[in-house]
Amino acid sequence: MKILLIGPPGVGKGTQANLICKEYKLKHISTGDILRKYALYKNRIGKEILNSRIDSGKFVSDELVNNIVNNLKCEKVLNQPYLLDGYPRTLFQAEFYINNILSKDDKYLVIYLSTSNEYILNRISNRLTCINCGRIYNLQNDLPKIYGKCDICKGQLRVRSDDKINIFKERLEIYYKMTFKLVEYFRKLDVLYKIDASYGIDEIFGQVKRVIGEYYDLY
Ligand code: AMP
Repeated sequence: MKILLIGPPGVGKGTQANLICKEYKLKHISTGDILRKYALYKNRIGKEILNSRIDSGKFVSDELVNNIVNNLKCEKVLNQPYLLDGYPRTLFQAEFYINNILSKDDKYLVIYLSTSNEYILNRISNRLTCINCGRIYNLQNDLPKIYGKCDICKGQLRVRSDDKINIFKERLEIYYKMTFKLVEYFRKLDVLYKIDASYGIDEIFGQVKRVIGEYYDLY
């Protein structure tokens, strides 16, 4: 099973990604998580990521992120069933993925989580992320058991710097400029399923499971 999860920032991709990966035993690959980890390295790649200012939502170069995904392929990480979260984000990345990462007969599914900007801005102002494992919480409908602490790893919960509202609006703009075209691109390839993400976590996950079940003939 190969799933790509796309949608605007703040729509709930991380939350659904965690649920999907647990349900279908998929490897969760988030290019954002990988880049945040690499940004701590004091080498050329670490510097390039810092210079790209990912904490303010700017994209790293297609070349860098394609190389990262290609390395995952070379290291056979992509030989197992996986979900890609945050990649591809540009047409160039999508073409690279199809032409260089996938094999000819690979079957893949693109799940597109869609909702209004109002919903996203409301959601984002209530979002907390674990600085250790990346688990996302929501102050309105997905609280941690202990205030400020992650249920899974007991890491500290913080507002991600790129979730601050002005930076977030900029991320949303970049999404519409760079990533939104992928919706049409994958629709034409007949691999895209759009899901209305304006509901609660469980309802959205219910829709996601229906789509995956039908696409992969699990019933
Ligand atoms: P995310 O955790 O997916 O929101 O990613 C955090 C940040 O990492 C993004 O705002 C971008 O700056 C960068 N990033 C993640 N994935 C990509 C990608 N596929 N292409 C370019 N930049 C990316």
